[in-house]
Amino acid sequence: MRSIEENFSQEIKRPVIGITGDVMETSTGARHSVRDSYVSAIINAGGIPLFIPSTGDLEIAYALYRMVDGLLFTGGVDIDPAVYGEPVAGTEMDDVSEARDTTEVQLARWAFSDDLPVLGICRGQQLVNVAAGGTLYQDIPSDLPDNGVDHRGSTYTNDRGLYTHRVDIEPSCGLAGIFGETEFLVNSLHHQGVKQVGEGLKVVGTAPDGMVEALEGPGHRWLYTVQWHPEELWRKQSAASNLFKGFVEAAAQHFAQREAAAVAV
Ligand code: MN
Repeated sequence: MRSIEENFSQEIKRPVIGITGDVMETSTGARHSVRDSYVSAIINAGGIPLFIPSTGDLEIAYALYRMVDGLLFTGGVDIDPAVYGEPVAGTEMDDVSEARDTTEVQLARWAFSDDLPVLGICRGQQLVNVAAGGTLYQDIPSDLPDNGVDHRGSTYTNDRGLYTHRVDIEPSCGLAGIFGETEFLVNSLHHQGVKQVGEGLKVVGTAPDGMVEALEGPGHRWLYTVQWHPEELWRKQSAASNLFKGFVEAAAQHFAQREAAAVAV
């Protein structure tokens, strides 16, 4: 009979996905957290989740970064406009986290230069855009006229997977091939959005009002971001589960290279 460790050693021949998360002050002290929906989505797709806390300590972040085969930038608090060189407009802002902004912008830039697979979700899309030199709408309802698309539509219910608006995906882009379809409904829980697109990124998905809903990094091995929350949809929507599978498959190639390099040493 094989030992439990022998069984595990088979299991861990899988890519490690670094997952970022929030750090929030609570009445009993600061708390690092990430929603299980992200963790479950990565496990379901075949990856091993590794939480990367937003400490603001870049030496710690780099040590963890070196262990991963892909980076998932998750949803969360607003990005401080100072990160993209703009003053706070004075419109509605959620909390911001300097530790999280600092940690994630650096992680993204390491991933860009190493061509590590990256998936950005919601704040994660905005973070990737900002790390590439782009800017954001600080508050969509204040910055843009009301056009009938409610990007916070899933926020007002207890169902974070509530379909709120349609997205259209550019048929010729890699993301369309991953999703397996080019037009579908998504949930939406954001009040900020991509304004000026960052260097090396391309808009490949939009809402009916033109809001940027998906970005691609055409010069990268696997760099995609979405403004909605596929981690709340993968149990019921093939486009969402296909996205996580595509991401983990790309990370598996990185894992294979990392394994081969370790053997060669
Ligand atoms: Mn939206």
